[in-house]
Amino acid sequence: MKVLVVNCGSSSLKYQVLEMDSSMLLAKGLVERIGIDGSVITHEKIGMDKFVLQVPMKNHTDAIGHVLDALLDADHGVVKSMDEIGAVGHRVVHAGEKYAGSVLITKDVMDALEECIDLAPLHNPPNIMGIRACQELMPTTPMVGVFDTAFHQTMPPEAYIYAIPYEFYEKYRIRKYGFHGTSHKYVAQKAAEVLGKDIKELKIITCHLGNGASCAAVKNGVCIDTSMGFTPLDGLVMGTRSGAVDPAIITFIKEKEEINADAVVSILNKKSGMLGVSGVSSDFRDVEKAAKEGNERCALAIKIFAGRVKSYIGSYLAQMNGADVIVFTAGVGENDIMMRELICADMDELGIKIDPVKNNVRGEEAVVSTDDSKVQVLLIPTNEELMIAKDTAEIVEKVKNN
Ligand code: ADP
Repeated sequence: MKVLVVNCGSSSLKYQVLEMDSSMLLAKGLVERIGIDGSVITHEKIGMDKFVLQVPMKNHTDAIGHVLDALLDADHGVVKSMDEIGAVGHRVVHAGEKYAGSVLITKDVMDALEECIDLAPLHNPPNIMGIRACQELMPTTPMVGVFDTAFHQTMPPEAYIYAIPYEFYEKYRIRKYGFHGTSHKYVAQKAAEVLGKDIKELKIITCHLGNGASCAAVKNGVCIDTSMGFTPLDGLVMGTRSGAVDPAIITFIKEKEEINADAVVSILNKKSGMLGVSGVSSDFRDVEKAAKEGNERCALAIKIFAGRVKSYIGSYLAQMNGADVIVFTAGVGENDIMMRELICADMDELGIKIDPVKNNVRGEEAVVSTDDSKVQVLLIPTNEELMIAKDTAEIVEKVKNN
């Protein structure tokens, strides 16, 4: 079966087509500036040069239309007819408490996603628009929703309930949801595969360290805790996000700077993290370069970031009574040799020993701990699209066979 994976933003759309028998990527692309002057689609049939087309696209339906044209194109296409696409998998950020796994999209599912707009006002509306556009243009193709929050739905209440008046949970569903679930699930499953063990017998700590960053504790195959919370602002320090801070800081800044609470939260989302502390960049490469050249705030930002990841690893080691494996993934986790070393430094008493020679690797699956490290440390490149496609194919096959 061929699966089309769609990840819709407000003015952009990423897509991939995968052949599921071989898990092979056939084509991928990006549509930018949807609904804005200068709309453009960049399509790539794997093994061929990219093909760029500037064409007006007033909405997501226009964008999906051009994606389908590109997939059917005689030169750059990967299918002869749309019937060859067996299913579409949609990345959706928030499914609230409703879904603990991926689901076939029905009217009820769409209603549930609409209800979650309150919880993810920036992300769910474009995700929903993408689904509706595909339904319009591919009315007979089954669609599956794969949710960033789903993998974390197994957390017990003691992990997801905040210690605030309980009625806020009852009235407004304020709780920890967690995000990046598709990535945490993918790398946790891969880690079990790499170790040749059943995931149900493992205690895994997954560290998704990119521009956005989160850690998760995965015990016996299910997530028991994660660092992002009610929103993706909580937890680790990120490119431009503060991660967890004392909430009283918000009202303090509000009064001192004479701005409203939304403006403070916007600062915590967009002007904090590595950017805020370093004053140089949100990109770890820039911050590390400047630190090497003697910039002390950049050096401090790096230490704060590494320290926060270490704290979450420590917390999860305590919660799971140890771990079998720690996995690093995403932009920083996969490429930043120095950061992995810094995070894992001085944890030998906890059974974590990184091997500087083995750790000298980027972007490929590798064991980076020493042979005698009790906890294995792995680098596993994430592949959220493949995870979405796998879930999609599995659900559609199941429905067909019923
Ligand atoms: P996201 O998907 O959250 O936008 P990514 O997982 O693609 O982010 O990670 C992007 C980040 O990875 C960049 O901002 C950069 O800081 C970091 N990164 C990429 N390559 C390297 C590298 N070689 N060394 C250090 N950091 C890197």
